[in-house]
Amino acid sequence: MNWTSVKDEGIVLHVAPFREADRLYSILTRHHGKLRCLGRGAQKPKAKLAPALEPFARVRVELVRGRRFITVTSVETLERYWNLQQDIERRTLVSSVQGHLHRFVHEDHPDDELYDLLTEWLSFLEGAKQIGGARGIFLQGALFLRLLDHFGYHVELSSCLSCKSEVLPLSCRWHAGKGGLVCTDCARRDSHDWFAAQRIRDEALMLLKFARHASLSDLMRPALKGRDIEDFAKLVHDLVAHHLPGYYDTPFYESLLFLLSLESNAKTA
Ligand SMILES: [Zn+2]
Repeated sequence: MNWTSVKDEGIVLHVAPFREADRLYSILTRHHGKLRCLGRGAQKPKAKLAPALEPFARVRVELVRGRRFITVTSVETLERYWNLQQDIERRTLVSSVQGHLHRFVHEDHPDDELYDLLTEWLSFLEGAKQIGGARGIFLQGALFLRLLDHFGYHVELSSCLSCKSEVLPLSCRWHAGKGGLVCTDCARRDSHDWFAAQRIRDEALMLLKFARHASLSDLMRPALKGRDIEDFAKLVHDLVAHHLPGYYDTPFYESLLFLLSLESNAKTA
């Protein structure tokens, strides 16, 4: 990219200590994509930049590109997401998503749509009522389905990947690697190509379809039964593992599972 100094707004995705007193920040900016930025002296107790450069906020930053590093020279908070920071469920959910974006989004690729997707989602969560473990997994899965769309991996949920005809409930199978549904006729006929296709329950398929296109506020509505959300989470994980760049040895929802166990403990106590 041909710039030496810019002002932009962004969301801090990840912070890591660097050298003795500095920090490295991964910042998703609105106009310049994800950037790895150096905060000089940010580990020192009286560092001026550090308090504003936190993940639960939208910030305006001034950046200077040097030979080795992009350095943050000033930062100003535009919006702080207090609820996301303080509420453990939402904090866990957001940290998990930011961690994934930090890992798989390429640096230096301007992508304002991705920025809008993330900031809309954060604002929505900030204003949402309490979010339990199952709803958290559903919201995160919905975001990943939108990210897959955004990065050009269209998951086929209505027509057969092979013959293109519309699939009917209970007469299709699921193949995450090929990116969606295949009708049982094609799966049977070309069993060599589709041997890995699995059964998919209609309830889980309905959740996938709904999660991809519903408005954010509508995502709070459907009842989430144990087995349905479990299937949904596994289906989304398989898609993410196959189609988003990066190495997904653990499922996207793993950090939210402890919330589910807290809830079930609270119910039985
Ligand atoms: Zn077919």
